[in-house]
Amino acid sequence: MCQKAIYPGSFDPVTYGHIDLIKRAGEIFSEVVVAVAHNAHKNPLFSVKDRVEMLQKATAGIMNVTVEHFDGLVIDYAKKQKSHILIRGLRMISDFEYEFQMALTNRKLAPGIETIFLMPQESYCYLSSKLLKEAASLGADLSSFVPDFVEAALKEKLRDRDN
Ligand code: ADP
Repeated sequence: MCQKAIYPGSFDPVTYGHIDLIKRAGEIFSEVVVAVAHNAHKNPLFSVKDRVEMLQKATAGIMNVTVEHFDGLVIDYAKKQKSHILIRGLRMISDFEYEFQMALTNRKLAPGIETIFLMPQESYCYLSSKLLKEAASLGADLSSFVPDFVEAALKEKLRDRDN
């Protein structure tokens, strides 16, 4: 087992795809910090506090995982955490270009930090928080994509937003 890894993202909200990746990372690294980005410019549906709480609930059974939040550059956060490993997910080819660009930019800015990509179980390869929010707003059954409490929170949030 090696070291502490940081898994950064928006997690707006957490899905079974993220949880799958967190479990895989937890098998490889001695400690995994899931780092929720404030990302105000992305206009998230959920507050940082809600996103952290949902992740904490979803990962409560995984002993070597903690959930934190951060603002600013992920490489600065990784240094603060004394970690040099970033975890990111690759679902489809469509993720590749953006993730590749970001990994190389981070490497240029912080040469000691490596990005490691993990692939989820095939059935989660098409799953994204963005698509989920669209499906939720149209009343779709989300039980195969997110835990029950996330589905309930999503539906409540969208109801409040649309009223
Ligand atoms: P971001 O806004 O940083 O893309 P996300 O929360 O959407 O944040 O994703 C965080 C990371 O998790 C990204 O690397 C993304 O590719 C990955 N990810 C998101 N959904 C899935 C999924 N269904 N399976 C595997 N990885 C995923």
